Amino acid sequence: MAVLQDLTSQQAIDLENKYGAHNYHPLPVVLTKGEGVFVWDVEGKKYYDFLSAYSAVNQGHCHPKIIKALTDQAQNLTLTSRAFYNDQLGKFEKFATAYFGYDKLLPMNTGAEAVETALKIARKWGYEKKGIPANQAKIIVCENNFHGRTITIISASNDPVATENFGPFTPGIVSIPYNDIAALSEALQDEHVAAFIAEPIQGEAGVFVPDEGYIKAARALCKEKNVLFIADEVQTGIARTGKLLATCGNCNCADRNCSGEPEVKPDVLILGKAISGGVFPVSAVLANDEIMEVIRPGNHGSTFGGNPLACAVATAALEVVRDERLAENAAELGELFRSEMERIIAETDLVLKVRGKGLLNAIVINDTEESSTAWDICMALKENGLLAKPTHGNIIRFAPPLVMTKEQLMDCVSIIESTLKAFKK
Ligand SMILES: *Cc1c(COP(=O)(O)O)cnc(C)c1O
Repeated sequence: MAVLQDLTSQQAIDLENKYGAHNYHPLPVVLTKGEGVFVWDVEGKKYYDFLSAYSAVNQGHCHPKIIKALTDQAQNLTLTSRAFYNDQLGKFEKFATAYFGYDKLLPMNTGAEAVETALKIARKWGYEKKGIPANQAKIIVCENNFHGRTITIISASNDPVATENFGPFTPGIVSIPYNDIAALSEALQDEHVAAFIAEPIQGEAGVFVPDEGYIKAARALCKEKNVLFIADEVQTGIARTGKLLATCGNCNCADRNCSGEPEVKPDVLILGKAISGGVFPVSAVLANDEIMEVIRPGNHGSTFGGNPLACAVATAALEVVRDERLAENAAELGELFRSEMERIIAETDLVLKVRGKGLLNAIVINDTEESSTAWDICMALKENGLLAKPTHGNIIRFAPPLVMTKEQLMDCVSIIESTLKAFKK
């Protein structure tokens, strides 16, 4: 294995290029170690991670408590399949349902699988509870959504790169503009609609934050029409936006299992990414009994879903979020970050605006979507020790781990400031 251990960055990149499918276009940096808000490349250069694996690593890299849960459980039992019970799943389900305030949880592995699961539950609920005629159920989705990569999920996508030559697509999907209550109201006139699925903030679309009250109004309209409101919080959830969930809105409690009223309580909640702190693929769908009871033995499953390793890791990861008050930290640092970005924006023509909530933010670069400017800025940021990735040609997402300190954040602000001010198109 010696040859693999002393790879240079270029050698590692060449290997991926030659032997791996080219389904990604990574920034040319090869990481070998992570700790908290930092990652190191194979040459030993240290960087701030300002992507957090698309908000999976909210708890920071290799959090000791989560890694301990992983290694302890790995020595006892890793997988039983659901053919048998294991002693971790029930405990995790009890913990997570209390934590998020739902009756039941259905465990899966990836975000896309959890979205698929939610859509299956919604269709079945539509037929069995709402009385939609067989095979007529519709799901309303939003333009510019990102819910994952399966064929059904890309059937809901309007991104040509994600969809071209992957048809035929799954029928029964109605797409409406995001942040448009009138469009939703109109689409809900159709009595065959089973569910409306939305991201509380559209992350991949470039951290697009809807108008204040949009999600709340959408939720109320769905209730009125007996349509399930499904929140895809795979990216916005687990403290990222300064609350445990983005749908908590302005509720001031740290925990979803709180005394206050969440602003919006989705009928179906989809979680993934940071539910495991990025340590292991874990995702989940949460709902109350009257919805979840449509799923009966044999209807749905996953060999790895609910495995004991995942349960131990996810429990520890959620404990870290609560014990280290990561939602509060994200809210506080997010305010500071956006105000610092506003100050920089006032001093440069290169950036048009900053938007976001908590530590899910993006800056919009003063150039076209087709330009490479955002990429080139990310390359310059990398040289200066900070890793971020464009979401479009002109948008850069900034989403560091939530364990960041104020001093570290200000250090990052100065890296971003000097990089932007020195940048020449
Ligand atoms: C990342 C993401 C998904 C898909 O998760 P995977 O684990 O990559 O399948 C779904 N929805 C949203 C909002 C996401 O950000």
